[in-house]
Amino acid sequence: MQQIQGIAVSPGLAIGESLIIDNEGFRFPHHLIVPTATATDGEVRRFVNALDEVGVAIRASRDAVTQQLGERYGAIFAAHISLLADPRLREDVEKKIREDFYSAEYAVSRTLRGYADHFLNMDNAYLAERVHDIYDLERRLLQTLTGRQREDLDRLDTQVVVLAHNLTPGETVHLNRRFVLGFATEIGGAGGHTAIVAQGMEIPAVVGLGRFLSDVSSGDTVIVDGDQGMLILRPDEATLQQYRQRVERRLATVERLRDLRDVPAETLDGVRIKMLANIEFPYESEACLDRGADGIGLYRTEFLYLTAKVEPAEEDHYRAYAEVVQAMKGRPVVIRTLDLGGDKLGFSQEDPEENRNPFLGLRSIRLALANLQLFRPQLRAILRASVLGDVRVMFPLISTMDELLRAKQLLVEEMDELSAEGIEYNREIPVGIMVESPAAAVMIDRFVEEIDFLSIGTNDLIQYTLAVDRGNPAVKDLYQASDPAVLRLIQRTLEAADRTDVRASMCGQMCSDPTYTMLLLGLGLRDLSVAPSSIPEIKQICRKVTIPQCQAVAEQALTMRGPREIDAYLKAELTAVNAASDRGS
Ligand code: PEP
Ligand code: MG
Repeated sequence: MQQIQGIAVSPGLAIGESLIIDNEGFRFPHHLIVPTATATDGEVRRFVNALDEVGVAIRASRDAVTQQLGERYGAIFAAHISLLADPRLREDVEKKIREDFYSAEYAVSRTLRGYADHFLNMDNAYLAERVHDIYDLERRLLQTLTGRQREDLDRLDTQVVVLAHNLTPGETVHLNRRFVLGFATEIGGAGGHTAIVAQGMEIPAVVGLGRFLSDVSSGDTVIVDGDQGMLILRPDEATLQQYRQRVERRLATVERLRDLRDVPAETLDGVRIKMLANIEFPYESEACLDRGADGIGLYRTEFLYLTAKVEPAEEDHYRAYAEVVQAMKGRPVVIRTLDLGGDKLGFSQEDPEENRNPFLGLRSIRLALANLQLFRPQLRAILRASVLGDVRVMFPLISTMDELLRAKQLLVEEMDELSAEGIEYNREIPVGIMVESPAAAVMIDRFVEEIDFLSIGTNDLIQYTLAVDRGNPAVKDLYQASDPAVLRLIQRTLEAADRTDVRASMCGQMCSDPTYTMLLLGLGLRDLSVAPSSIPEIKQICRKVTIPQCQAVAEQALTMRGPREIDAYLKAELTAVNAASDRGS
């Protein structure tokens, strides 16, 4: 058994058979064979035959390449050929079959991954690169042994836990929720969009684990602990038992919290808090209603692009918005305009300038304003959907007044077009911005004159305030919602909104974290937009506290020097509130 600590990004527990993607993505028919001489002999024979077959294929490739391109290119296959011919490989695999009764597939995978691990530990860039040759050889041998191509994630028909070096947000949206119990990746950070998608899809996930793929083979039993950010490889019986009990306790808690669906998020002193939800896909409206959401506080429309095979047209936008607005039956739906770029699929993925620093590049509203053929159809679709319910439009990553005024002007132009065509829309559609750049927070007193509402996007606000990439695990310790610099910008924004009739909400992940609920209520936040799965827990906290109590907590937190001190204080306050409530009930 091996336990690896990473970053918890999507809560829940997943116990199951692993499926490694990236490197090989094969699943083995079985791991162990019956411990008899006949069975082991048969398995060794299968392995030796596969070795020969792969050797023939690689030599044929070498000869073809040499003939077409010359010796130098043919030499590329030298590493594979010498690995295949190495008697040690044969001995090691055979030993695992004869002594541990591993199947040929599992013995090949464990042996070659063991070699890969040695190479990776050598701290030598050249040797580390050779690991790709080892993985390639593993892939070829497994393909020959199983007679199959790599597992196609779209066509899974049994439940697995996906393990990968990385999953992009685009790959994550394609995971089949019925069969993918959870996933774990070597890289990735807490604020990345892969994390956000996993939460939306309610798939337990841990990212930023560092190197572990050389320690595990497809088919090994693994546990993804999305609550504690832990990956456990080949858990022992006691650990499995303990986790199965935790799964049951979790289910019981979810069941208990379900009772909260129809009660309002109201504090003990009678202040009504709005519980809104963040969604990426129309189908999530159902989960929102299930949890008793008061509306959608953030609809990340760019995900339409991540799931579409061809660029979505106005009609595709309209259909998606209409589905959400109609499902929400008159509750508010904040449609955020395209926020492409950054770590989401953009239109400049091939552009080296853009790839150098995508979060500071042509992202979000900047990309929309620079690509009106993309932006105008979306604005039209939002306006058309505005007659179906309480639709509001929100512009992301506003950092200058010019951007906001230009976006508003385009909206008016589209209104005029629709009027000329005799198409209905709501001319009074509320217009808002996301406050997610320090510039927007600093200049918020000016922005409030031009908007009807705002929503604080802490995922980006933290990144841009502290100059720390939200998806990079190497700087994860700096990426802290409770950094005093971030808290001051939040406070400033809420105070500016409070002086006007601009309604303020927060839709960054900070708001979905129960640690910060009291702090945020104390700072004056009354509209919370959270991941649908977080609604019950956050609502429960709102119902256990009073506003003066939260104000005292916020005041105290703001006197502290750093995020660790603040987090420890907030966690202690939350524990005390829960304990008091348990005593009272
Ligand atoms: C944010 O930045 O906090 C936010 C909600 O937007 P996104 O995570 O989509 O960038
Ligand atoms: Mg953002």
